[in-house]
Amino acid sequence: MRNFNQIYIDGQFVTPHGTEQFDLFDPTTGTVTGHVRLGDEEDARRAVAAARRAFPAFSQTSRNERIGMLRRLHAAMSERVDDLTQATIEEYGAPVSRAVWGAKYAAETFLHAITTLENYAFERDIASARVVMQPIGVVGQITPWNANAGFICGKLSIAIAAGCTSVLKPSEMSAWQTQIVMEALHEAGLPPGVFNIVNGRGDVVGTEITHHPDIAKVSFTGSTRVGKSILRSAADTMKRVTLELGGKSPTIVLDDADLAQAVPLILNAGFGNNGQACINGTRVLVPENRFEAFCEAIRAGVEQIAVGDPRDPATQIGPLVSRTQHERVQRYIRTGVEEGATLLTGGAERPDHLERGYFVKPTVFVNVTNDMTIAREEIFGPVICVMRYRHEEDAIAIANDTSYGLHAYVVSSDPERAQAVARRLDAGRVAINGAPHEPLAPFGGFKQSGIGREYGEFGLEACLEPKAILGMQRAA
Ligand code: NAD
Repeated sequence: MRNFNQIYIDGQFVTPHGTEQFDLFDPTTGTVTGHVRLGDEEDARRAVAAARRAFPAFSQTSRNERIGMLRRLHAAMSERVDDLTQATIEEYGAPVSRAVWGAKYAAETFLHAITTLENYAFERDIASARVVMQPIGVVGQITPWNANAGFICGKLSIAIAAGCTSVLKPSEMSAWQTQIVMEALHEAGLPPGVFNIVNGRGDVVGTEITHHPDIAKVSFTGSTRVGKSILRSAADTMKRVTLELGGKSPTIVLDDADLAQAVPLILNAGFGNNGQACINGTRVLVPENRFEAFCEAIRAGVEQIAVGDPRDPATQIGPLVSRTQHERVQRYIRTGVEEGATLLTGGAERPDHLERGYFVKPTVFVNVTNDMTIAREEIFGPVICVMRYRHEEDAIAIANDTSYGLHAYVVSSDPERAQAVARRLDAGRVAINGAPHEPLAPFGGFKQSGIGREYGEFGLEACLEPKAILGMQRAA
């Protein structure tokens, strides 16, 4: 059994005031592997107090001092990439390649923050005013389980770059990964209180953070449902919020797309991270006149996908993270069938060769209309809906007919056409032909996928308040 009994406050590992023990699972087997002792409201308050004490001095540090700290954090996290990879496979169920990518990415977030900080102008003149960007204060950060270390490091790195101090509540389900991150970040030797990490439940530690008057801003990544409740509670103290929420992203396959190129892109976008990514392309829009050919190629592609033990390097899709998630995804698949969609491949039953663990078959529905539950709600599992469209305008209209707007994908053999379509989609990001992630460009959602942006300069500015100083003397 692996037990995690400490949280990180004021530069030290401390035993929480909270006493609840929370079970940790191996999703590949469905068995309990350990426990985490959860913090409570008192722990959250102690963490906020530490961050508040640290803020005055930290907010006055120079750009170079903070770059130095970010370098140390990067070095410390890089040392733990192998441990983090292991934990991500065993605790989360990420296939090896995804776990390696995620662990390296977590370390690299500090380099991205350095690049952003090096190039950012904290002061500029606008007409007669000098505009000074000032650190906002203590930032409360709340993260989900589906890329635990990357979210922790991404949020902390940009807050540190801005000169803000932090209180972070990670997902209670990711305690092993969190422990490795805490140990690594501690090694970097930052001043006490600059970052504080409190394991705990959302409705306990999370709620304390989102209501606490000394938190100036909340940066939340998670479900739209919880995001809405955070937005409401932030109003009382006028907290600034960045909300990174759910998605139901379209993949538009234009009629000139090459079938052999398009199908792997469709499947990667749809099933990446075991189908548990906010950016998954789960509504696939295919031209009517090539529908049958695409469906056949997609079916054949899915049947080649290796589902199974994430420790096996050949595995492409591992288990879902929890029993709750497993049941939820199976329920959605049954709903799709009940509402009249046709299963092209997959289904609600567990894959034949896997007798235990939270596995589902990668599932593709056809004969889906955009008003069906499976086309409107975020499923958060390896389930995609293929829909037909008549012409380009129709595809754009269907793509934008959603309450979400986090991401979109366009596949075409004509780059100019793809760009023209990308410009018309209501999404915070559009990837053309499988373009890779860009960590310095803004990330965030239109509509109910969120408020605000993270990453790069946009993310940095979300931790800063502009102050216009009038009557400054300027050099002649
Ligand atoms: P969730 O909203 O249930 O939980 C996210 C975090 O919020 C957890 O740490 C949880 O403990 C905490 N929380 C829960 N209730 C809370 C409350 N009342 N007050 C404060 N905090 C609370 O989401 P999840 O199931 O962990 O993650 C999956 C969701 O996250 C999906 O909807 C997914 O799309 C979304 N997500 C979005 C992004 C993005 O960048 N837009 C990235 C990853 C995941």
